Amino acid sequence: MSFAVEVKQEVAGTFAHRVCCMEAELQAITAAAGNLSIVEGAPRLTYRTANIACAKETLLLLKRRFGIVTTPYYVRNERLGGRREYVLQLAQEDSGRVLGALQLTGGRVAGVGRMYRRVCCRRAFIRGAFLAAGTITDPERGYRAEFVLDSAERAAFLIRLLALCDVPALGAVRRGQHVVYVGQGEAVSTLLRLLGASRAVLHLENVRALSAVRQQANRATNFDQANLSRQLSAGQQQADAIEALSLNGGLASMPKDLAELARLRLVNRDATLEQLGAMLNPPLSKSGVQHRMRRVMQFAAQAQNPAE
Ligand SMILES: [Zn+2]
Repeated sequence: MSFAVEVKQEVAGTFAHRVCCMEAELQAITAAAGNLSIVEGAPRLTYRTANIACAKETLLLLKRRFGIVTTPYYVRNERLGGRREYVLQLAQEDSGRVLGALQLTGGRVAGVGRMYRRVCCRRAFIRGAFLAAGTITDPERGYRAEFVLDSAERAAFLIRLLALCDVPALGAVRRGQHVVYVGQGEAVSTLLRLLGASRAVLHLENVRALSAVRQQANRATNFDQANLSRQLSAGQQQADAIEALSLNGGLASMPKDLAELARLRLVNRDATLEQLGAMLNPPLSKSGVQHRMRRVMQFAAQAQNPAE
């Protein structure tokens, strides 16, 4: 089961029981999943959705708010690659009642003022839009939720509503459809909270926490890498200086213990001071090697600039 389907199943059936909210949610669902046909001069409302949670929510809302009981059926939609589509067909008199109460005419968004005033209705509308037109990516693959709507007006309205709920969203046009998307971990988390999908929030937050730990680990590795490259470059510099010295025959005039270390460095450019110390006979501690290397470098510097 996809993450989106899981979220919808978690969300469905938990709607607010206030009349204002039920209507707001039905408005969003009707705008996205409702089809209007005119039969003998009267409108007939039919809901079609591929998501069973959305079908269930619509049935419950119609029953609670309008006392309408319909028997859903499903068809295989060839356009959706043979996927099952749930159909809820309302009787003509019921259709008129619902459309009248929801003030749905054409592509206009109804009840805008109320939705701006009431937080409860805002949430209900967004929940309806998500059930009927939304999808969400599994957080393990990325943070993204989107709504696919049929008009720029509806997309703009949803973006404004989401913004009022602290969920920054953007709009885009894809294959002639208007897409509203939320593309950032914090915002997706806020959206899931808004939808009342607490299990999904938990999953998302777990993924986010893990990825934060992973990022920290990466930063630590990068830090080690930086230290290592500093070390390497110090070794390279020493080897370069010793090489210049040996070309001038300087190694021969060096005290024996210094020359031994210099020769080791010359052929072990990348070795750490500890590693060099272990190669010496007898072995020498890191601080001992450090001290001796400093003298090698002084020797090399003097050989290059005899005046000093
Ligand atoms: Zn309300």
